[in-house]
Amino acid sequence: MKYQSFEFSPFQENTYVLYDESKECVIVDAGNFSEYEHEKLDAFIEQNQLKPKALLQTHNHLDHLFGAKYVTDKYQVPLVCHADEVPWIKRYKATCAAYGLEIDEEPPMPQQLIAQGDSFQFGNSKLEVIHVPGHSAGGVAFYNAPNGLLFCGDILFDASIGRTDLPGGNYEQLISGIKEKLYALPDTTRVFPGHGRETSIGKEKNSNPYVKG
Ligand SMILES: [Zn+2]
Repeated sequence: MKYQSFEFSPFQENTYVLYDESKECVIVDAGNFSEYEHEKLDAFIEQNQLKPKALLQTHNHLDHLFGAKYVTDKYQVPLVCHADEVPWIKRYKATCAAYGLEIDEEPPMPQQLIAQGDSFQFGNSKLEVIHVPGHSAGGVAFYNAPNGLLFCGDILFDASIGRTDLPGGNYEQLISGIKEKLYALPDTTRVFPGHGRETSIGKEKNSNPYVKG
């Protein structure tokens, strides 16, 4: 399985396209915000002749949801997320307004729900769902074991962790979830967060100031 990353919107959110030799792909967190960013995402999919199968959401905070309607309409794919992330879809417009963004569209509701221990298959690739609440109640990471790749949204960052002061956030849950579930993965696991640069499980275990291994 291969990946391509994009940094989108004034929130500098990382969107990923995961794909393999079958040409099937999934989009992880549609943060594409502007016309230009929609085109950037489309161009990559088109140039690589990829067939999108789903939009997988690590969580539904607004900056991860900006492009959800665009992606699901354009590619006719289902939005897939944890049940505890559905409230964020319903309060999307209100949340945008709170950030001073006048947005007049509703994101799609999920057509498939995922939970801890589920796996999601596309092409010849498999992603395991790891539920780590704390940044957001239904926050999940997607783990591709054969290639040692983890797409973790805002659970864990390079030398940091996701904020826990938003509705549904919980600091203790986040710390224990990272320790018990993410730090259980091999040290060599490459970690691709929802913001900022790539890190690894080994690096965070050794030096993350919030969660020491
Ligand atoms: Zn978030």
